[in-house]
Amino acid sequence: SKNILSPDKHVSDQEFSLRPSYLKEFVGQQQIKENLSVFIQAAKSRAEHLDHTLFYGPPGLGKTTLAQIISKEMGVNLKSTSGPAISKAADLAAILTNLQDKDILFIDEIHRLSTNIEETLYQAMEDFVLDIIIGEGPAARTVKINLPNFTLVGATTRLGLLSNPLRDRFGIPLRLHFYKVEELKLVLTRVGQLLEIKLTDDALEEIARRSRGTPRIAIRLAKRVRDFAAVDKIVEIDRTIASNSLDRLEVDKIGLDGNDYRYLKFIADNYSGGPVGIETIAAALSEQRDALEETIEPYLIQIGLLQRTPRGRTITKAALDHLGIDKNYNFFK
Ligand code: ADP
Repeated sequence: SKNILSPDKHVSDQEFSLRPSYLKEFVGQQQIKENLSVFIQAAKSRAEHLDHTLFYGPPGLGKTTLAQIISKEMGVNLKSTSGPAISKAADLAAILTNLQDKDILFIDEIHRLSTNIEETLYQAMEDFVLDIIIGEGPAARTVKINLPNFTLVGATTRLGLLSNPLRDRFGIPLRLHFYKVEELKLVLTRVGQLLEIKLTDDALEEIARRSRGTPRIAIRLAKRVRDFAAVDKIVEIDRTIASNSLDRLEVDKIGLDGNDYRYLKFIADNYSGGPVGIETIAAALSEQRDALEETIEPYLIQIGLLQRTPRGRTITKAALDHLGIDKNYNFFK
């Protein structure tokens, strides 16, 4: 179920025009920017390719954007694809043999590559050669193809689903974190200028607070708030207008929506707050386990409403308070 708060890409997002092009325009993720800047400078000064880089973390935090920034900062070409898009070893071979020296190959959702393609890929990453089998049966032989020294930039929301040999071949693994409200305000300020949306500082803050620490969501909410304001012929958006619009989108003060409420209330009402296994929750809510783990849970954990324990998911007292449930509710009987 894709809704306004889904951090997944929507076709309508038109992100290409809003993406920052250089590290200095990229808001937040200070540690990542500092490290990348050093590694990029060092690679350039040696006239070498950048080491293979892996970005991991929840959707919408800037992994794709950083891959594009690396190619701009390095002054090389970027070829983008995704794990599910590469179905045959020949597809991968075609992509790899078309790269030029130092080019970036970006593979989004890299955890969704099939096993045999993963194997081909990590050989290519290690030795910059491709072993291709030509023919079948006893006549089959292996041909070695030399590849340019490319940089693989991988992105994944699920580090745990990557095989160890693949993971180990990334010299630069970087984890993205949720953004602070102040940082999202900076993202929104920039987007406001680019899209000519007039937002007061209070309005920026209101949208930022409800954006689940995620730039993609912040940008989307700002666009919807702009729509409400436009229909009401409002030129400058203040906190009240932002707040009313977001209420109408059923996004609450801390960025929760109906899906989060369903999730939290299920555990509160049926399992006295938990622990309860993820499969049980997924089945009861008719959701994919993956979707829960990727989009709903990380933010609830981040803001302290949910805990992941070996015995299952448990919601916290803060969650009950937020739901407005009496803390003695249903619990000690
Ligand atoms: P991911 O690949 O992690 O899902 P994207 O790179 O596609 O995320 O980013 C989603 C949107 O948020 C894009 O429009 C991008 O421009 C914007 N964005 C993400 N991070 C930042 C940032 N740090 N500064 C400015 N804009 C950002």
